[in-house]
Amino acid sequence: AEGQNSEYEVLEEIGRGSFGCVRKVMHIPTNKLMVRKEIKYGHMNSKERQQLIAECSILSQLKHENIVEFYNWDSNKDVLYLYMEYCSSGDLSQMISYYKKERKYIPEKLIWSIMAQILTALYRCHYGTDLIPLETIYDKAKPPIKGNNLVIHRDLKPGNIFLSTRKWEGDEYSPKKMDYNKVLVKLGDFGLAKSLESSIEFATTYVGTPYYMSPEVLMDQPYSPLSDIWSFGCVIYEMCSLRPPFQAKTYMELQRRIKTARFERIPDYYSHELQSVIKSCIDINLGTRPSAYTLLQDIQLRIARKSLQ
Ligand code: ADP
Ligand code: MG
Repeated sequence: AEGQNSEYEVLEEIGRGSFGCVRKVMHIPTNKLMVRKEIKYGHMNSKERQQLIAECSILSQLKHENIVEFYNWDSNKDVLYLYMEYCSSGDLSQMISYYKKERKYIPEKLIWSIMAQILTALYRCHYGTDLIPLETIYDKAKPPIKGNNLVIHRDLKPGNIFLSTRKWEGDEYSPKKMDYNKVLVKLGDFGLAKSLESSIEFATTYVGTPYYMSPEVLMDQPYSPLSDIWSFGCVIYEMCSLRPPFQAKTYMELQRRIKTARFERIPDYYSHELQSVIKSCIDINLGTRPSAYTLLQDIQLRIARKSLQ
């Protein structure tokens, strides 16, 4: 039962996610290209479905320059369709592969820019409000209280971080054409995992290796915004070292390594400041692992200082 919604013209498949097929679609009334993700939920009970729909409704309110826009959803008996912004210029995992193949490091300036944008998006999700304006970061105001609409990403990884440039939006990803000052980062796949992880299908279809999963989540503790910060640290590490901080041949071994939180230094090519941001995030101790708020203040100050030099 494909494309029963006549508002959309169903186009080619662009990939397969953990829960079903991902397709390009054309929204006919607006002539806009979108991505449609399908989630088979025939096995879910009505409470689980309700939770999924509730999350969709929260996500559809999550509008931010650095977050893949969630437009709409519709459902039939067995399938939920999610319609979202189409990101045509590739993702961070492609960028990492490109640099690895070329045997080059990703320039540090570009890493700081991507970091700041990921954090801006995480801040929006974790605090339920938009970023504090740059001018106010110098006062020691308390961070905003976490709202009810708090969203935890839960699956932060290079493949869920889309890249484009403000200038060449719509083009294929090409590092040669990429202007570092204009790179636009968009986080995708927010939040929905909350409903899905509890469903039976998750256990059987989550085939990805949990390279970025925090030790507390591996130990079956609940997700918190700080679990995203751990994953964030792992992603930044991978941009520097062109491989994740924890790797292993088996799931058990990976789990063991993550729980030790011991990883190799990033290449000397990069500054101590970058190394120290990464280290602060890949911290087993939730009491000392920084929030998006703290990191963002810190990083913006560093970027501001660097640009003054
Ligand atoms: P995963 O579960 O591995 O994250 P996804 O369901 O997110 O898989 O996506 C499957 C494929 O579709 C991936 O190749 C991904 O890059 C692509 N994709 C997902 N969302 C978008 C989007 N908004 N724009 C463009 N491509 C997307
Ligand atoms: Mg994804």
